[in-house]
Amino acid sequence: MKTIEADICIIGSGITAAMMAEHLAEKTSRAITVIEAGKPSTPFSERARARERYKDYGESPWKQDHLDDQNAYGVTYGFSPSMHVGGLAMHWGGVAPRYAPEDFRVKSLTGLGDDWAFSYDDLDPFYQEAEERMGIAGEQGPTAFDPRGKSYPLPALPVNYNLAQLRDWASKAGIAAWSTPSAKNSQPYQGRAVCQRCDTCYPVCPTGAKYSPDFSWDALVKAGKITLVTETLVRRLVAEGQHGRIVRATGNRTDASGEEVTITAKSFVLAAGFVWSAHLLMLSRDDAHPEGLANRSGNVGRYLAGHRNIGGQVSLPLELYPGINVQHSLVSKQFMREGRKGKYLRHDLRIWESSVGRDPRLRASDGSLQLGDALLADWRQRAKGATARVRAYYDVLPDRESRITFDAARKNRFGDPMPFLTWKDAPESAALREWQEEELRNLFRSMAKAGGGEVISLSSNANDIGQEHPTGGCRMGSDPATSVVDGWGRAHDHENLWIAGAPTFPTASCTNGTLTFAAVGLRTASAIARSG
Ligand SMILES: Cc1cc2nc3c(=O)[nH]c(=O)nc-3n(C[C@H](O)[C@H](O)[C@H](O)COP(=O)(O)OP(=O)(O)OC[C@H]3O[C@@H](n4cnc5c(N)ncnc54)[C@H](O)[C@@H]3O)c2cc1C
Ligand code: SF4
Repeated sequence: MKTIEADICIIGSGITAAMMAEHLAEKTSRAITVIEAGKPSTPFSERARARERYKDYGESPWKQDHLDDQNAYGVTYGFSPSMHVGGLAMHWGGVAPRYAPEDFRVKSLTGLGDDWAFSYDDLDPFYQEAEERMGIAGEQGPTAFDPRGKSYPLPALPVNYNLAQLRDWASKAGIAAWSTPSAKNSQPYQGRAVCQRCDTCYPVCPTGAKYSPDFSWDALVKAGKITLVTETLVRRLVAEGQHGRIVRATGNRTDASGEEVTITAKSFVLAAGFVWSAHLLMLSRDDAHPEGLANRSGNVGRYLAGHRNIGGQVSLPLELYPGINVQHSLVSKQFMREGRKGKYLRHDLRIWESSVGRDPRLRASDGSLQLGDALLADWRQRAKGATARVRAYYDVLPDRESRITFDAARKNRFGDPMPFLTWKDAPESAALREWQEEELRNLFRSMAKAGGGEVISLSSNANDIGQEHPTGGCRMGSDPATSVVDGWGRAHDHENLWIAGAPTFPTASCTNGTLTFAAVGLRTASAIARSG
């Protein structure tokens, strides 16, 4: 059996853990050990080649990014079991907007959902810290919609000719849109290159311009600031008595040896992301905790939340040149401020250039075959205008019955039951959905009209679970009877157990969540650093 001793044991090596480890390594002299179930990812030196193979053959750039027998079942759209060093953010697109101040007090403002245990202003310094650590390139939007204490660390990614045209179009519809904040270098940063606009941000950035957690791990390991233990799955946390301290974590190597591993530490940080954090607490049930650890409230694994989206393609009488930095976009947050027409609807808005409807085609709209001059004439005609892609994420309020249970039929190699996800639409979300989605379609129609164009297609993210940028499972709150952790991420039931990021969110907002997962993790790290 392998034994490991640490002052602080961080479970998981995703982006939330990476931010926290950097913070803790700077603010304390305690020994930090990070335990990751998966293997190291494709190293940076191999990413240019991985990109070529992806483009030539559609091959995944991320070999061995998961464990074959470790997956979630049930309603799993939006859940990706990416288990390798760096977690899901090895794959991410790097889009990094903040939540709106209103997200933190939804209940106070609307009577629906829940308030957070802290405000936007409380989180602002940790947002800033996360942005500086990742290197976020951003343009200050109108302060009413985009309040921030300090400016973005990097200048915005350029609003190129295409996006400038689309920004003018949005303003005709009364919409203020600006360069989407992104974890992509607009100038060299932290030894990483400037963005080359080669547009494979996901699945893989070959230049290092996009931040991914492996950069943090490599630097921390090289400087001897942390110990990173890979291929080690934590399977149980062991607590001393009902509300006592966590005394050790136990698990096994996920390599062929399957060797048992025991980790003792003064503090344990559960940064295992959505699903796995709650799953580990549930697996750690014992006689004193028959429903799992940290579960006095019975809410571990409950209140899963996320958002849905409505998207569209809009044909416009503009001249654009599709194919220039297509993964960069404009964002507007003005609709995240308040409900419309007295009902609850808050959403973000993103705008991209698009080539949809403008590619050469062999058959005309009436189905007839086009060859030679006819083919060329059709394509010339179609290439004349422009198409914009639009999308609005809106939030889905969490229901207590949206939850994780065990799937007794599916076990990993060690015999642990895998998580099973159930989604229950919160009645208040279900009641509003039809109206909300029609409002968003109407928004796109009115935007098209303002630009003298037309909506050529609309799509609804029709999955019934709303799990894009999923959150929940270990919700925060001040009352131990209804929440799992306090506002700092400390488990109500175990004073040396901290839970980080997405699982602790009581609501999921209506924009990409990862920057906020990291910022909330940093706030937790600041509390750990202050604790003895
Ligand atoms: C294709 C794609 C594009 C995306 N684009 C964006 C985007 O543009 N913007 C955005 O905001 N978000 C985006 N996301 C979402 C984003 O990647 C995730 O929200 C984020 O990476 C979550 O980070 P995390 O650290 O909280 O958790 P994770 O990345 O899930 O990390 C958790 C880690 O813990 C490890 N672990 C789990 N359980 C255990 C255990 N018991 N023992 C040891 N280790 C364990 C896992 O192996 C994993 O490495 C995207 C996701 C995908 C897949
Ligand atoms: S566009 Fe920029 S961030 Fe995206 S893959 Fe290319 S270099 Fe990386």
